[in-house]
Amino acid sequence: MLRQSIRRSIEGRMAAFPRDMAAHGRFTPDMVRTFAELGFLGIRLDERWGGAAMSLRAYCLVQEELSRLSPILSLMVSSTSGLAPMAIQRHGTAEQQRRYLPQLCSGQSRTCFALTEPEAGSDAAAMTTTAHRVSGGWQLNGIKHFITLADDAQLMMVMSITDRAKRARGGVSAFLVEIPTPGVSVSRVDRTIGSAAWTLGEITLNEVFVADSQVLGDIGKGFSYAMASLDEGRLNVASICLGAARWLLEASAAHATSRVTFGAPLASRQAIQWMLADSATEIAATEGLIQAALEAIEAGGSAGALASMAKLYASEMAFRVADRAVQIHGAAGVLDSSPIGAMFRDLRLFRIGEGASEIQRMLIARSVLEQVPN
Ligand SMILES: Cc1cc2nc3c(=O)[nH]c(=O)nc-3n(C[C@H](O)[C@H](O)[C@H](O)COP(=O)(O)OP(=O)(O)OC[C@H]3O[C@@H](n4cnc5c(N)ncnc54)[C@H](O)[C@@H]3O)c2cc1C
Repeated sequence: MLRQSIRRSIEGRMAAFPRDMAAHGRFTPDMVRTFAELGFLGIRLDERWGGAAMSLRAYCLVQEELSRLSPILSLMVSSTSGLAPMAIQRHGTAEQQRRYLPQLCSGQSRTCFALTEPEAGSDAAAMTTTAHRVSGGWQLNGIKHFITLADDAQLMMVMSITDRAKRARGGVSAFLVEIPTPGVSVSRVDRTIGSAAWTLGEITLNEVFVADSQVLGDIGKGFSYAMASLDEGRLNVASICLGAARWLLEASAAHATSRVTFGAPLASRQAIQWMLADSATEIAATEGLIQAALEAIEAGGSAGALASMAKLYASEMAFRVADRAVQIHGAAGVLDSSPIGAMFRDLRLFRIGEGASEIQRMLIARSVLEQVPN
């Protein structure tokens, strides 16, 4: 029921969004307004802030459905209900919650999450951005890069070192930095190989004063807040990849049924059927992994390695499904204007963001090895 009503809203009000994002290279104010009107902004935030207080399971479902149209649409949802917003809801002061959360739900502002640095990507603990104690607050210096929608955000959650000796073990803190703030600049914005609207910005922090009231949660706990929300981030990515893969399979099956070559539909050829069969099987396996991870979280625990497995498998699966979809569509699948080609490019990004495949494999292997008896 919920899925059908979400799908109807998306198909009815958002069908032109992929084209608009390509034309404008960003989410336009009209698009943001539509997200807000449909109730897709701040969906995980409490109702008192204007959110829908949705469960993680329902959030994943919304992301799946948006991704059928374009995986990039999910960014607008996570920017108002993902890592930074949920950290404010969980660890923010009453004043921070009052100041920021209603604006996220209404579409007046968006967040970005600034962890990665030029010399600290997969190894996030190698960061060098620092926050020094000064009278009444902190002074931040450093560079963050590859930050999703940094050029669209009005609020940044910036991770900085507050204790060099401790680093990731209690020496990293989270700061809420408004844009504009003196000393903060989004100095470079790169387009990715995916949708023009998925921009990655470089943020320069030059002697930025941040008042004590802008520290998020406890000093020294920033890294643990980020790591604690990783389960949700990984399931978010897995759900986005699942939704896109389902749509690609449906489009491939429809094309194979209608396209005739050598006097018969493509769908009658075993070579094509096997591609459809492999995609369907891998999609079903992804559904199982996401379910298992959600059940572990709903039982009150952490999804741990299951979330890594879901993120790893879903992101690699979706790219394989997209590759088969391009093959089944022939030249029609590689045109710049083709939604199949657009999905192929967008989905490639998910194998790197939110912890690349190699890092997920590293974490999964660690959990396997931990179970070996001493
Ligand atoms: C689309 C997209 C959106 C992003 N959005 C954000 C964002 O909003 N905020 C943010 O903070 N960051 C963001 N990032 C950055 C992302 O977190 C990093 O790109 C990612 O952590 C990898 O870091 P890197 O690019 O520096 O690659 P590197 O760390 O240099 O790694 C390069 C390659 O080597 C592999 N590798 C690294 N170490 C090992 C190892 N020990 N063993 C085996 N293989 C290894 C990696 O898996 C990767 O394939 C985004 C990235 C992308 C692509």
